[in-house]
Amino acid sequence: MLRITEIKLPLDHPAAALRAAIVKRLGVADHELISYSVARRAVDARQPAIAFIYTMDAEVGDEAAILQRLKDERRISRVPDMSYRFVTRAPAGSVRRPVVIGTGPCGLFAGLLLAQMGFRPIVFDRGKSVRERTQDTWGLWRKSVLDPESNVQFGEGGAGTFFDGKRALAGN
Ligand SMILES: Cc1cc2nc3c(=O)[nH]c(=O)nc-3n(C[C@H](O)[C@H](O)[C@H](O)COP(=O)(O)OP(=O)(O)OC[C@H]3O[C@@H](n4cnc5c(N)ncnc54)[C@H](O)[C@@H]3O)c2cc1C
Repeated sequence: MLRITEIKLPLDHPAAALRAAIVKRLGVADHELISYSVARRAVDARQPAIAFIYTMDAEVGDEAAILQRLKDERRISRVPDMSYRFVTRAPAGSVRRPVVIGTGPCGLFAGLLLAQMGFRPIVFDRGKSVRERTQDTWGLWRKSVLDPESNVQFGEGGAGTFFDGKRALAGN
């Protein structure tokens, strides 16, 4: 799979323009492009013409030949291997269990990864279950009654339980 960066297209470009741009950049015939997908799309909002800037991943027949032919073209490379690799595996027969404190997004994810690595994590949280803390949290937000042990901060799911779905977590 090849990665092609900095493909600039107008905001109202037809869908077919992506394929055409890849074919042109790679210098291949249309039928040689087996498949493609958008890896990233950004907006260049500078005037005079606001445009999309794409990073595309493309599957073609003979990648090695294309890379060799375009070896001086810095905007074409192999798609980096971003697959996750576990840092370790649980030793066979291990009876020791890692402990995770907190069932917020980080604690739940840590527990998941540990389990996938073959450990048997124990995950603790000091707060209440989601159903109970939802009542407590509404109590704070609607009636200004704070339960210091069960609120938007403390309990199953952590603060993530009450976030409104925006995507800031991806950058945390
Ligand atoms: C009102 C609100 C709205 C938000 N909205 C968004 C949003 O829209 N988008 C977004 O991306 N982010 C949002 N956030 C931020 C997001 O929720 C946090 O970044 C995220 O929850 C942090 O995850 P965490 O696992 O590090 O910690 P937390 O979610 O805080 O989880 C920590 C957990 O540890 C537990 N804990 C703490 N001390 C102990 C202890 N001594 N023993 C046992 N357990 C303990 C707590 O009970 C809690 O469950 C929001 C946060 C709040 C408060």
